[in-house]
Amino acid sequence: MSQISLSGIHKSFGSTEVLKGVSLDIEAGEFVTLVGPSGCGKSTLLRILAGLDSADTGDVRIQAQSVTQTRAADRNLAMVFQSYALYPHLSVAENMMTPLKMRELGWAGRLPIVGPLVARRACRDIHARVEAVAETLKITPLLARKPGQLSGGQRQRVALGRAMVRDPVAFLMDEPLSNLDAALRVHMRAELSELHRRLNATFVYVTHDQAEALTMSDRMAVMMQGEILQVGPPDEIYHNPASLAVARFIGSPA
Ligand code: ADP
Ligand code: MG
Repeated sequence: MSQISLSGIHKSFGSTEVLKGVSLDIEAGEFVTLVGPSGCGKSTLLRILAGLDSADTGDVRIQAQSVTQTRAADRNLAMVFQSYALYPHLSVAENMMTPLKMRELGWAGRLPIVGPLVARRACRDIHARVEAVAETLKITPLLARKPGQLSGGQRQRVALGRAMVRDPVAFLMDEPLSNLDAALRVHMRAELSELHRRLNATFVYVTHDQAEALTMSDRMAVMMQGEILQVGPPDEIYHNPASLAVARFIGSPA
């Protein structure tokens, strides 16, 4: 059973068909990249998986459950954006705990009598979790700072930390490194790969950068004009591209 299953996803904006029946199965713990030129539909597909947009037809399953009717907040997927989307007025620690607090305290706060007790307990757990995640990402010294006082790489790490605190089924990342300078990008690639190994979590990673996809993925799905042309391990895609279009895009010798 695949952890994430997209089948026959179609999506049009007006008269433009942006996704033309895309299917992709992702196993638990895999690092899968969606790679393709700008405008081929990667972000749209990721947004449909996240529940931030809906498909016209097709099915999205997470752990064998159809989530086509499930709101984004209830899918337990963590989306990490390139723009970080941190709250500028909150500290790093507060940024990291806000989504979890909203989830955990939302129901606890509504309970009569035991509500405040449950809430206090949940709050303690959340703080402990933020500290553990900060430790993993080596951002403990940054917890009291505001996003404005962080470098691009540090902000990226905080955005990732916020996603990790929720312990999601999978991390969805849309070009998370594209705002960083070239040297930091290469460094963060290695860090993300290392983090993936350590967390043993599922990563669905969108990029237009062939090198990024080739170095980081367990499997890559090469997308062009709303279709997945080939799915496989980097080695196979590079050495046995299924078509000239794939070969050209990947820059492989075939
Ligand atoms: P990618 O992430 O691969 O660059 P996108 O999924 O963002 O591609 O976009 C695919 C196509 O769909 C593009 O032509 C884009 O202009 C179009 N598109 C994306 N979102 C919208 C939208 N909300 N309304 C209209 N067109 C859109
Ligand atoms: Mg995009």
